[in-house]
Amino acid sequence: MFKALILNQEDKKTLASIGSIDESQLPEGEVLVDVDYSSLNYKDGLAVTGRGKIVREFPMVPGIDLVGKVAESSDDRYKPGDAVVLTGWGVGENRWGGMAQRARLKADHLVPLTEGLSGKQAMMIGTAGLTAMLCVQALEDAGVTPDKGTVLVTGASGGVGSVAVTLLAQLGYTVAAVTGRAAENGEMLKALGASEIVERSTLSEPGRPLDKQRWAGAVDTVGSTLLANVLAQVNYGGAVAACGLAGGFDLPTTVMPFILRNVALLGVDSVMCPFDKRQAAWKRLAKLLPESFYQQACEEITLEQVPEYADAITRGQVSGRVVIKL
Ligand code: NDP
Repeated sequence: MFKALILNQEDKKTLASIGSIDESQLPEGEVLVDVDYSSLNYKDGLAVTGRGKIVREFPMVPGIDLVGKVAESSDDRYKPGDAVVLTGWGVGENRWGGMAQRARLKADHLVPLTEGLSGKQAMMIGTAGLTAMLCVQALEDAGVTPDKGTVLVTGASGGVGSVAVTLLAQLGYTVAAVTGRAAENGEMLKALGASEIVERSTLSEPGRPLDKQRWAGAVDTVGSTLLANVLAQVNYGGAVAACGLAGGFDLPTTVMPFILRNVALLGVDSVMCPFDKRQAAWKRLAKLLPESFYQQACEEITLEQVPEYADAITRGQVSGRVVIKL
């Protein structure tokens, strides 16, 4: 028997409780993993609180990220003792996930833990960090280089945002960070590498289809009106990597930035990201993130604290990354 956070549904309400699970209850899969850490992402917050339709089958063990050691494997790629990481692939949504001391997983969904990273560091990165890396790569592929001008990051105090700020600064970009919590998090964002803090309220109201050109590119984790306003301020030929909906899933924009300024809107998904791209991104994250990132932008909690933090992350009250010790 081992410990897990278990989600059940009663009268359409999601209830989270700590319980014991027997190994025989775990789903099918080639690799059994002893989980060391999971992490808390916005999506986990939606799943645990039931505020988003993330989980469709109950009971469910949430946790879209995990790191641990292989206990048993029937797949040639993994053997007992190997350190492995999993992010995405619907784990913690439609398949039991990382907020348990053990998980049985598909070998295709795993990546070996990147050399140079501890398990805890891998979860400090997690889905949020992987997504930030993929966003930065999307901007690079679109020709947004450091010499082109300032890159804006929205939802900057959050998991994806804080890693994106750090990565861009490490790569030599000038970074502006949009936050609704400048007083609380402005110093942290500057320490991570932002040279300018932009108050979220200046971008929250519906604006003009085209505004003054200010940004060479942007990483957007917020969506909705804020993304529309960012698009209107991107320089001619710039690009925006959009990965999130923390402010809403709508996008009240016009075609003007696209057809008059050649602005590109780049969609980024980390959940189904193929193995090779995923592994390359992990290696780059391990190389680029400085020690200061792990010290400044991360917090460790227990399984028992998850419901409280899940509530906070869906209310935009969590800063940086939260890891869960199993
Ligand atoms: P966090 O909650 O850690 O960060 C989101 C940040 O957005 C908050 O910290 C806050 O930053 C800002 N924010 C919160 N609410 C609002 C609001 N109503 N309006 C404007 N800004 C707001 O979440 P994550 O970093 O884990 O995820 C960010 C987004 O990216 C989520 O929507 C998530 O679903 C998505 N995502 C997508 C992935 C993909 O593969 N496409 C993978 C991972 C995440 P501040 O206080 O600084 O303004």
